[in-house]
Amino acid sequence: MSKVERDWYDRYMMPNYAPAAMIPVRGSGSRMWDQEGREYIDFGAGIAVNALGHAHPQLVAALTEQAGRLWHTSNVLATEPALQLARRLVELTFADRVFFSNSGAEANEAALKLARRYAFDHHGKEKNRILAFENAFHGRTLFTVTAGGQANYREGFGPLPGAIEHLPFNDSAALAETFGDDVCAVIVEPVQGEGGVIAADKAFLETIRRLCDEHNALMIMDEVQTGVGRVGALYAYESFNVIPDILTTAKGLGGGFPVAATLSTADVAASLKVGTHGSTWGGNPMGCAVANAVLDIVSDPAVLQGVMDRRHRIETGLCALGEKYDVFSGVRGLGLLMGCMLTEPWHGKARDLMYAAQDEGVFVLVAGASVLRIAPSLIIPEEDIVEGLARLERAIAQFCSAGSA
Ligand SMILES: *Cc1c(COP(=O)(O)O)cnc(C)c1O
Repeated sequence: MSKVERDWYDRYMMPNYAPAAMIPVRGSGSRMWDQEGREYIDFGAGIAVNALGHAHPQLVAALTEQAGRLWHTSNVLATEPALQLARRLVELTFADRVFFSNSGAEANEAALKLARRYAFDHHGKEKNRILAFENAFHGRTLFTVTAGGQANYREGFGPLPGAIEHLPFNDSAALAETFGDDVCAVIVEPVQGEGGVIAADKAFLETIRRLCDEHNALMIMDEVQTGVGRVGALYAYESFNVIPDILTTAKGLGGGFPVAATLSTADVAASLKVGTHGSTWGGNPMGCAVANAVLDIVSDPAVLQGVMDRRHRIETGLCALGEKYDVFSGVRGLGLLMGCMLTEPWHGKARDLMYAAQDEGVFVLVAGASVLRIAPSLIIPEEDIVEGLARLERAIAQFCSAGSA
């Protein structure tokens, strides 16, 4: 058997990603190892997905137990893990009903379709405008990429779905000015993740809620990245005390196994009548079994408190590094979704710092060109935090000396 090589990526895969030179083969907790046995500390958790790190024993047990029983039925049949997970999500949130899918984009696609359909059912087809925000990220299907606020992600893919407008994030006045009775929905991330790790202002989310109520529009919160404990509450809307009509959740939900959900009130959900929408794999028993195990752990108040403690711990470490090397002007975001803003001389160089970190054996993410994103496992152990920060410091020292040379 020939050894799997990194250059197979260029030979056999479409060129839409740019993966690192090394190939990871194993992970445990917040550590990962590559083909050569080199170890890495994981501060990225597969883009805020591996909420409980790699190969958590309870998740492995849930998955293998389900794998020996029943893999897939399609939605022609309901399954026990899906029913359990739906009940769980309803009991743990504002929502009354759940629709399952496999990815964040699909969960948002369902949310946007549901909002249009609800307006159509209750107010007629003229009420179809969707308001979204600049720099938002909602996924890569044509509808969700159009709702997203980064024009370059849509370029060349037109014609695009219509009646979607982008407004400045955290600008309540601009929103109030644009709003009207023809708006059917507003879609917003409580913390913009891909857009640079920028938290919404509480007053901004409250304004969205109020304007939606005044104009009979639905508020969709995209919690694909912020959900499942990432910000220290099970869902971020709780920390803002602003309740949406529809919420989407994906990344952390399966702890690394693909599973996603669109949650809503009973009134809104009624518009997704038999035959209006669907997914072959949505609610697949293995994904739902793992998600049940994830929620068992993450819904524990001690685990959520642990997220806040780790935030404090890591933020203190990052700020110290930022000051020592004059490389970060600050750390923003909520809970364990952190954005280190690069100081002016290093603007546009976040990706270079990410590569330097990889060379030193620590995985970090970027969020735009000038923000380093840190989103580790929610239960990352203290020794991995210490080691990860030490490696990051070596990377920063290297990065600064290479940059100023
Ligand atoms: C990652 C992300 C998505 C898209 O999720 P996929 O699973 O990649 O389709 C949507 N919204 C937000 C806020 C995200 O962070």
